[in-house]
Amino acid sequence: MKVYTVGTSSAVPTRERGLAAHLIDFKGERILFDCGEGTQRTLMKEKLGIMKISRIFISHWHADHFSGLLGLIQTMELEGREKPLYIYGPPRTEEFTDRMLDTGYFNRSYDIFVEDLVEGDEIVGEGYQVKPFEVDHGINAFGYSFEEENSRKANKEKMKELGLEDSPKIGRLKQGETIDWNGKTIRPEEVVEEVRGRKIVYSGDTARSENLISYAEDADLLIHEATCLHEMITDRKGHTSALQAAEIASKASVEKLVLTHFSRRYRNQVDSLVKEASQKFENVEAGADGKKFEVKPHRPED
Ligand SMILES: [Zn+2]
Ligand SMILES: [Zn+2]
Repeated sequence: MKVYTVGTSSAVPTRERGLAAHLIDFKGERILFDCGEGTQRTLMKEKLGIMKISRIFISHWHADHFSGLLGLIQTMELEGREKPLYIYGPPRTEEFTDRMLDTGYFNRSYDIFVEDLVEGDEIVGEGYQVKPFEVDHGINAFGYSFEEENSRKANKEKMKELGLEDSPKIGRLKQGETIDWNGKTIRPEEVVEEVRGRKIVYSGDTARSENLISYAEDADLLIHEATCLHEMITDRKGHTSALQAAEIASKASVEKLVLTHFSRRYRNQVDSLVKEASQKFENVEAGADGKKFEVKPHRPED
């Protein structure tokens, strides 16, 4: 699974950074989280075809998180998209999207389904689910947890021991059935191991949020906003400093922290944000437009 920070500036773009957008490539399906201005151009530059985007999750309706949506939708139309597009977000997403799509003249070759979400909802895709959760940004705002399904894997050594390695019966064991084999009864737990699915959490815009910490627990990757250094945080209501993002990552025991949503004040000094965060959490990196993060599958013992 690959995760891309596509747009990493907050509020206004800079020469180097576009507005909020983050993409998960899961087995060829692309799921976009936020779609700020410039998103489609960065996706093109990185050769991340927009036609594979199946779902778009908007964290909240501040312009830096949705201003690229109309252009992206229009390009999909001009490229002849036929498959439907799903757009999700906090309350009023349907209303705002309808209004946006009712502005100007353009044709539509495909269906767009829009849904307002509430915390507790789950959007189930092929092999994964996405859960919205409330964060603290002064308006309706979500973070999202992308969770891969757990899977079952046969232990090759055990299979060999039992002479089962080429047997089609492995399918039934994986489904949890007990089988008879060479006069022996084999229970699934003897050869099949549960593999934990991967988890990616995206904060959207938020002040330090306890709710986010509980959703982010044990995530493989936490993409968290770090709008400013800690000395500036009192001026930035509804946002998080790099130091706080690191404390959150540590408290939630995540594997890796990726910072995003940088104030333009730091456009040449993003390193200072990473340095501040690394005081509290070691495995931290700054996102950059088009930067890729690979998230490897877990092993059964993980
Ligand atoms: Zn923002
Ligand atoms: Zn915002």
